[in-house]
Amino acid sequence: MKMSKLFVQTLREFPSDAEVMSHKLLVRAGYIRRLASGVYNYLPLMWRTLRKVENIVRQEMDAAGAQELLMPFVQPEELWQESGRWEVYGKELMRLKDRQGRGMCLGPTHEEVITYIAREGIKSYKQLPVNLYQIQSKFRDEVRPRFGLLRGREFIMKDAYSFDVDEAGLDKEYENMAKAYTRIFERCGLETKMVQSDSGAIGGSVSHEFMVVCDSENNAGENDVFYCEKCNYSANSNHAISILPQAVTNGGFEKAEIVDTPNCKTIEELAAFLKIEPSTIVKTLVYVADKQYVMALVRGDKTVEEIKLQNAVGANEIRIASAAEIKEIMINNGKTGEAGYISPIGIKDVTVVADKSVLELKNFVIGCNETEKHLVGANWGKEAQLPEKVEDIRLVQEGEICVDCGSPLKVTRGIEVGNIFKLGTKYSKAMNAVYMAEDGTEKPFIMGCYGIGISRTAAAAVERHHDEFGIKLPLAIAPYHAIVVPVNCKDELQMKVANELYEKLQKAGVEVVLDDRDERPGVKFKDADLIGFPYRITAGKTVNEGLVEFKNRANGEMEKVTPEKAVELIIDAVKSLA
Ligand code: ATP
Ligand code: MG
Repeated sequence: MKMSKLFVQTLREFPSDAEVMSHKLLVRAGYIRRLASGVYNYLPLMWRTLRKVENIVRQEMDAAGAQELLMPFVQPEELWQESGRWEVYGKELMRLKDRQGRGMCLGPTHEEVITYIAREGIKSYKQLPVNLYQIQSKFRDEVRPRFGLLRGREFIMKDAYSFDVDEAGLDKEYENMAKAYTRIFERCGLETKMVQSDSGAIGGSVSHEFMVVCDSENNAGENDVFYCEKCNYSANSNHAISILPQAVTNGGFEKAEIVDTPNCKTIEELAAFLKIEPSTIVKTLVYVADKQYVMALVRGDKTVEEIKLQNAVGANEIRIASAAEIKEIMINNGKTGEAGYISPIGIKDVTVVADKSVLELKNFVIGCNETEKHLVGANWGKEAQLPEKVEDIRLVQEGEICVDCGSPLKVTRGIEVGNIFKLGTKYSKAMNAVYMAEDGTEKPFIMGCYGIGISRTAAAAVERHHDEFGIKLPLAIAPYHAIVVPVNCKDELQMKVANELYEKLQKAGVEVVLDDRDERPGVKFKDADLIGFPYRITAGKTVNEGLVEFKNRANGEMEKVTPEKAVELIIDAVKSLA
């Protein structure tokens, strides 16, 4: 490819709407252009990278025994009614109607369709196990599309679905996929942590996420991952558990009474005013879970983990209640409190969920539903009734204790590039997808599902591989392997050497660009670094001495070598990919 023909427009500046480096660089280097919120054009450079990621995924999935197919992007409502997800999926599901008025949706994921395929096609245990996958654009009408390809509304995903006769078969396939995932991300130049996670809208019980650790200042990692350096424990914050270190749990009040607590809306203000530890206060937060009001109780020094709370009440959606909604609860119960002063004491018709840790508190402080007053010296079963639900709804904090080995937990931020789930019979039962088992009875399939964000993986690779000059994607997924730059296009010898290099590399199967533009060398070098050609061969003045400059973009090293040597170095590197 000649640079003068390559369809790429690099920009001098970063786009003003981009927050994270992968978004900034992919736009500036001419890989992507935004079409609508969370919807991007993948221009030729991006498309080459995406196809490389896809091919790595294909090779490893095929090697792991899975078979590729392609399902429709548009799906009929009926299947989603069968699985029960049409009502519960939320606004991410882009619902539409066709000209006959039939409900359809843009595929955000394909459990329903694959279960339908299995129901129609797999009749006997003899056809099992099987793992089917596809690589396709998905659409999710995300609340907050951001960070370019990291969180788009339209994005490319590899989704695989396994069907087994029993749990043991599923366990084996789950392991098989976990191994394939580790290899896939390694080949894309990404080290990943496999962390326990919440199963969310997809359902099922066991699931793990593959996280690219991304602790950079721009916060591209949207997930908090708690992990233990001693043992292997690691989990997404929505699923992490811990043992609490020793803390003061007795408020020390001798009798229960309501006291004035002016201007004490926050735990810090209240603790300072009463001269007590925050850990002896019961913090009440009000949520709306689907349509139900929920009061969540945690220790004053802790925070509610909303996904855990949502699971505890079995809701599809959860959000913090507004001041007006809190007022409504108060009025309905003949109280006057506002946020900061509330609690479940004397409140009817709300679901109360307490974190396990609050049950240990004695002579504690709690709201009493009157503004600027709190109840001090309270105890469970006396002034405060025992909450109906006691669950782990607490967000883990760094330094709390690992449940597996007792060491302090650490936290880091991660980008979720892949996710594997044990679905069990959630979809096969709901959609009556059964096969004839060996004993002659009908049984629902035991399913697993396995996703990889192809476009997110490519963007995560840019997050991990860049510098102040531009993108440094690894050879395996960079759009091209190399660029040949003649410094002065008017110099005959330089052009001759450059052309020969270009032809030799092309013949050897190297994906190479010749920068034939009549531009200043500075411009050419800047573009080469920005786009991120893993290898650059420069034919400059030293061609008179039979030497060219060989630059490795990954480590910035440059050396003078003969043109033959430069070709050999690149061919060897490209060969080692296979
Ligand atoms: P997230 O929690 O980040 O919203 P998810 O858990 O809902 O993602 P899955 O249903 O597990 O996503 O989808 C499988 C994979 O698809 C994810 O691991 C991720 O790599 C990718 N993915 C999901 N949502 C997006 C998105 N909006 N943009 C780009 N990639 C995405
Ligand atoms: Mg996920």
